Amino acid sequence: MSLNNKVALVTGAASGIGEQCARKLASLGAAVVIADLNLENAQKVASSIVAAGGKALAVAMDVTNEEAVNAGIERAVQELGSIDVLVSNAGIQIVAPIEEYAFSDWKKMLAIHLDGAFLTTKAAIKHMYAGGKGGSIVYMGSVHSHEASKLKSAYVTAKHGLLGLARVVAKEGGPRGVRANVVCPGFVRTPLVDKQIPEQAKALGISEAEVVKNVMLKETVDGEFTTVEDVANTVAFLAGFESSALTGQSVIVSHGWSMQ
Ligand code: NAD
Repeated sequence: MSLNNKVALVTGAASGIGEQCARKLASLGAAVVIADLNLENAQKVASSIVAAGGKALAVAMDVTNEEAVNAGIERAVQELGSIDVLVSNAGIQIVAPIEEYAFSDWKKMLAIHLDGAFLTTKAAIKHMYAGGKGGSIVYMGSVHSHEASKLKSAYVTAKHGLLGLARVVAKEGGPRGVRANVVCPGFVRTPLVDKQIPEQAKALGISEAEVVKNVMLKETVDGEFTTVEDVANTVAFLAGFESSALTGQSVIVSHGWSMQ
């Protein structure tokens, strides 16, 4: 598969899964835009991709802010010529039982995961339409797009919501060559998960080792974490798929935790 002459914008690409997605897409020939709240880390990722012979641009972007999203995407188009692939990946996690879940945290979660996906789609899709070449949008869902877990009311709600958004974008974009799909990873050891292990241990009254074994990996077929490479390879497959046959789908990459 080649993404030569394509431009791919990845949100939340300064860390974890988004970073690996950007590295993978760059290795397949795409010019990548590292869009993140954390500009310093985004610049480090972009520099290392360039040092490895790739093409990359770092842009500061808060995906919950419409002006910031529009400005970042306009800059990417001005500097690199188009947006062919959007990976809407930026996300955070806040865990608490629902009776203690702060309304402000609920709104923050939905803003980053859902407003972010909506705003980046809205800004990018018009360039995909305008170029006449179409494009591919990949949303970072989760096994929690299909399953529920305790303490994750906002996250599960948001990740389920992405399935609906992707299906609408697949229908609207289909006639104009834009595909939309969701990648649904199981647990991946990134800063987002490392922060959550002690928080879940406290909330559930169990040890951190028990959180990993009996909460995070209990339902997998082999007790293994999914890796950033596993997720990035799936994103690249969806981003580069050659026809419009593959759209409106969600692909679960989770060591069999969820089988749909
Ligand atoms: P991470 O914490 O390693 O990286 C998240 C990145 O998003 C950071 O660079 C952060 O600065 C950026 N970000 C946060 N808020 C932002 C905002 N408002 N605007 C722009 N950027 C922002 O996390 P990760 O584990 O790589 O998670 C990436 C995505 O993968 C998230 O959507 C997450 O829900 C999803 N996911 C993660 C796992 C997992 O186990 N790690 C599993 C399934 C899905």
